[in-house]
Amino acid sequence: MKLSEFLEYLENRNREFITDQKDLSKMAKAQHPFMTLIECSDSRVDTSDIGFGGKEALDRVFRIENIWNTVWNNEWSVEYWVLHLKTPILFIFAHTNCGAIKAALFEYDHLSPAIKRELDYIKPALEWLENVKDMEERWFKWVLANLEYQVNYAYNKFKDLVNSGKLAIIGGLEDTDNSLWWWYDKYYTKFVLAKDNFEFNYH
Ligand SMILES: [Zn+2]
Repeated sequence: MKLSEFLEYLENRNREFITDQKDLSKMAKAQHPFMTLIECSDSRVDTSDIGFGGKEALDRVFRIENIWNTVWNNEWSVEYWVLHLKTPILFIFAHTNCGAIKAALFEYDHLSPAIKRELDYIKPALEWLENVKDMEERWFKWVLANLEYQVNYAYNKFKDLVNSGKLAIIGGLEDTDNSLWWWYDKYYTKFVLAKDNFEFNYH
């Protein structure tokens, strides 16, 4: 596709979108997100399959994407949204077949310093998986262990909010490669840290 065609495509898509925006007027002066979302910046990962994509996410979701869906990579943004704008849900969204985790496992020595620096944050937390000899299995377990690590990392930052019932931290997994549940992009909740009977204003 020529760049000029792509630019025209963007304007056409937007034209389609804005012709149906009567329910979005309340966001004119302020935003009202209820969820801070951290998801892996993998082009196959999309929270529209759990109801938070496109228009459904407008004015509802503060979205952060980075490799490995880490909290620390955008820590200041996460703090701003959770502490100052008080989104009651902090959702961390991982996926199977994560290329970044594969790179850390199989190609670490060939990665650039900036990528190594990021991966070095998490490697100590995953050393216990060194004894998983099957590399496919280790790859998947790294995905899960990293997700759990990020959820706990967030809990350690925001435990007062969690324990007082103002914040729930959710770690979810999407089956991007159909390796677990026989449905591409099937979603499953893996970790939840919240006070019993936690409730929030869903809109
Ligand atoms: Zn990924």
